[in-house]
Amino acid sequence: MSKTKQTRDVTLTSGDTLIETIPQLVWTARPDGQLAYVNQRWCDYTGFTLGHIQSDRWASLPFIHPDDQEGRQALWQHALDTGAIYEIECRLRKGNTGSYRWFLTRAEPARDSTGQIVQWVGTTTDIDDQKRAEHQFKESQESLRVLAETLPHLVWVIGPDGLSEYVNQRWCDYTGLTLEQAQSTPWVHLQVTHPDDRESNRACWQHALDVGTLFEYEERIRKSQTGEYRWFLSRGMPVRNEAGQIVKWFGTCTDITDQKRIEQALRQSQERVNALMYSNIIGIFVSEEEQILDANDTFLRMTGYTHDDLRAGRLNWLQMTPPEYLARTQQAHQELAIRQSTTPYEKEYVCQDGRRLPVLVGGVTLQHHPHLMITFVLDNSARKELEQRKDDFISMASHELKTPLTAVKLQSQMVRRRLEKRSLHEAATELSRVEMPIKQLERLIGELLDVSKIQAGKLEYIWESVNLDEVLREVTDTMQHTSPSHAILVRGSVQTSMIGDRDRIRQVFTNLLSNAIKYSPGAQTVEVELSASDEVITVRVRDHGLGISREQRDKIFERFYRAADLKQGAIPGLGMGLYIVAEIVKGHGGTITVDSKVGTGSTFTVTLPTKRAI
Ligand code: ADP
Repeated sequence: MSKTKQTRDVTLTSGDTLIETIPQLVWTARPDGQLAYVNQRWCDYTGFTLGHIQSDRWASLPFIHPDDQEGRQALWQHALDTGAIYEIECRLRKGNTGSYRWFLTRAEPARDSTGQIVQWVGTTTDIDDQKRAEHQFKESQESLRVLAETLPHLVWVIGPDGLSEYVNQRWCDYTGLTLEQAQSTPWVHLQVTHPDDRESNRACWQHALDVGTLFEYEERIRKSQTGEYRWFLSRGMPVRNEAGQIVKWFGTCTDITDQKRIEQALRQSQERVNALMYSNIIGIFVSEEEQILDANDTFLRMTGYTHDDLRAGRLNWLQMTPPEYLARTQQAHQELAIRQSTTPYEKEYVCQDGRRLPVLVGGVTLQHHPHLMITFVLDNSARKELEQRKDDFISMASHELKTPLTAVKLQSQMVRRRLEKRSLHEAATELSRVEMPIKQLERLIGELLDVSKIQAGKLEYIWESVNLDEVLREVTDTMQHTSPSHAILVRGSVQTSMIGDRDRIRQVFTNLLSNAIKYSPGAQTVEVELSASDEVITVRVRDHGLGISREQRDKIFERFYRAADLKQGAIPGLGMGLYIVAEIVKGHGGTITVDSKVGTGSTFTVTLPTKRAI
């Protein structure tokens, strides 16, 4: 441009060296538009000489791009008609390659002293690189805009004066503000920021402006459609010019409401877990395989271990389990593998000082971490101690009762015999009436003693060869004698002997038969079925009585369990019989099961091995 000015005041000739050194194409034209002079660069670029062009019409310069021809002609004509400066961008073909480049052509009229135009002086400058850069810039601007519009964030560009230069459509939709509002109101976003967050927002901005670095903060922004405030993470980044001054801030606001909600839910659940973990009520530990990885204070206090022991990996629940509880523990772990949780069960842990701690434990595994197990441990010692005291009492009481009862029994037998000798038969018969209640009392006390022995693991057996047919005949005869209300029908026979404790086996079948009669008040018969193979003797005791519900079936073999049934309410009993029966059968290596239907009757099946290693 400045060079054009320099050339304007000189009369240009083809020999002018100054003109030849400048990098533009230089030309002059007569007032009617006819080219009068072109410099060498002009010729080199276009591949034409002045002669070529002068012989042709200036209007149809052949090296101008066809698309630019019309516009150029109109503008040039306008300049010639009005004397206005001529300026146009158009593509010129390079003579030796045939490719087009963009040029800026500028021409001004030179006038004489009367103001008459004497010639036009023009320069044509190659602006192709500049054009290309502009185009690329426009393209990248456009891609940025498209990017900003497609981003799932609110996007803004704000000047240091707080006026927005740009906000994306999402920003407008969310805030309910228009681009014009954003561009005309400084710090417009504060209008939609939650009042409680405005101060910190301002402070954050101020700090960012002071230090000029990237900033970020969390704030609540109002959603125009619903009026609700949602949480956003706002981030701003300074954009600097070449001199390093901040010319604008480029920023985004990301909706983090859901993330915040999840974080809060997580925090709450963590708090709940902590409350449970650090409560004083229940011992909790987390284990992988047998190793205890973490445990709460309650568990450590219960077992006498310390956090140091825990950190050093000295806690191993398998090593803390006494051998007699290994089988039960293993069973619980099998259940855990299938159901991801265990039914609470009783066991003991060996404490740090070797003491045994009775506990009630239950475990779960986590759905996404099945190798991790969480175990809940309740100190069961108070209950166990109470149970022990109860057992001790039963044992003592039954012993205490047994001695005087034996004395009463012997005394009454002796007196009865004396009365018989003196032929006082009526008095002897009167006296014999006490024998039945004495027998009942004896049986009751015997059962109490048995329960105590079982509890203490001291039930002993006297092993001998037992003829089961004979034993069962004795039992059924006695029962038939004392309970004439039911006919006891025996089917089949065993015809083989077995190794067992005769009295205890008698006790088993006496109990089952007496229950069968007791719990079938309206029925006429009770059946006993015998069968045997080489290895096993099977005895079935069937009644047609009240029956036992499914839920009660597992419990009837427990100590002191009695079905809470209205119909059964009037039937006396203490819930010891089946507990003792099951223990004796187990002691003989046999099994006992029950099959029953409420209102129809029950069948108890006992199997006993014929051979037994004594
Ligand atoms: P008890 O008969 O003294 O209550 P048991 O241990 O012999 O104690 O039996 C436990 C419970 O099992 C009984 O209370 C009763 O509910 C149930 N039961 C036992 N045998 C029968 C039977 N043959 N028919 C129905 N219920 C029975």
